[in-house]
Amino acid sequence: MAERTVPLTIRGGNIVDPGTGFCGPADLFLAGGRVVGLAAPGEQDAVGEVLDVAGRVVCPGLIDLHVHLREPGQSHKETIATGTRAAVAGGFTAVCCMPNTTPVLDRPERLRDLHERLAKHAMCRVYVIGAVCLDNDPERPADLEALARCGCVAVTDDAFPLQTQQQRRNALQRAAAAGLPFVAHCEDKGLSAGGVINEGAVSGQLGVPGQPDRAESEAVAAWLELADCGGRLHLAHISAAASVAAIAGARATWGDRLTAETAPHYFALNEHAVLEHGANAKMNPPLRTEADRKCILQAVKDGLISAVATDHAPHAAEEKARGLMDAPFGVVGLETALGASLSTLPMAITDILARLSSGPAQVLALPGGHLAPGAPADVTILDPEEHWTVVPSAFQSMGRNTPFAGVNLRGRAWATIVGGRLVWHDGHLVDE
Ligand SMILES: [Zn+2]
Ligand SMILES: [Zn+2]
Repeated sequence: MAERTVPLTIRGGNIVDPGTGFCGPADLFLAGGRVVGLAAPGEQDAVGEVLDVAGRVVCPGLIDLHVHLREPGQSHKETIATGTRAAVAGGFTAVCCMPNTTPVLDRPERLRDLHERLAKHAMCRVYVIGAVCLDNDPERPADLEALARCGCVAVTDDAFPLQTQQQRRNALQRAAAAGLPFVAHCEDKGLSAGGVINEGAVSGQLGVPGQPDRAESEAVAAWLELADCGGRLHLAHISAAASVAAIAGARATWGDRLTAETAPHYFALNEHAVLEHGANAKMNPPLRTEADRKCILQAVKDGLISAVATDHAPHAAEEKARGLMDAPFGVVGLETALGASLSTLPMAITDILARLSSGPAQVLALPGGHLAPGAPADVTILDPEEHWTVVPSAFQSMGRNTPFAGVNLRGRAWATIVGGRLVWHDGHLVDE
């Protein structure tokens, strides 16, 4: 992903920058892969190429902390090329990729192979989250210092949640020693065992086994007991009200070292979506009750959950066609996250965009998330009032597994600029 050195002037936009707090009409100047600065509309002559944006919202490029790109090893589900095309179509200029590929991203030679693939195929920035254990075996620790040297921005147990307190403690201590945040997939496998959706009214109605919300919240509570380990803890895909209560209760002890994310499906949908969308509404953790949904939404509004991430998890159509019991967990999210957030969150647009840009940047100390001079030239331009219907067959992602199929959303990315290069424009990828 080469940066573009030719200057670009984004003219006539309405800047919404949650990173600096600046909001208002201004022209934005990019050059050398960086933000040069802002000027009052028309005050300074355009430099280089010009993109007229006609009053659209111009914000820092969106950042997704939780994406499964599936490459290497599962390219029938998604590839680096298609996953990052989906990202830029959805307005994301950077994504963090999860390590549960085949093979697992747990050692330097595999990281080097991935970085070579990324350099060839990625349309946006990709930050790598490494696996905390070798081949997902909780008894075989990965060399986290080596992963840090290979550029990993965090380590995780995502998809293979650690189960004992000794494993959790050990993981946090090792991550802290390597200077890496730990991203925790909070799930007590003893409690979730066999459950395919939330345990409750809908699982009862369908006669399928459910996962109780305690499977998540008790694991959250277990992680939160480990503040003495030092380091930074980020809780992935929070779905349950009981987890939010636990996080709120632990804030005083942990301070800024504790952060959490949720995904749009957890504040836009509840367990009843399974009745309409079947296996395309099956993910882990599952969609919860309406009370949980409202609580998650409030936690995003309050900032207790400071990042909205997608947990983009593409699967092949034939895999999802196996039915609710046998289909794999996971839904795609890169191309619906912005619209679902703008349509659902009862918040000022600055605050919504904060949860999708400056908030995630802060969680993992990533570049970007603001448009101050010197920032990466990563910019998203959106139509916040555009109404559109989600048509999975039109996705850039190979995954069609979304619980938002047929849903009307408001707000969509119109253009995406990565490193000063226009990569998505008015519904199309931009080829050089
Ligand atoms: Zn997970
Ligand atoms: Zn995940």
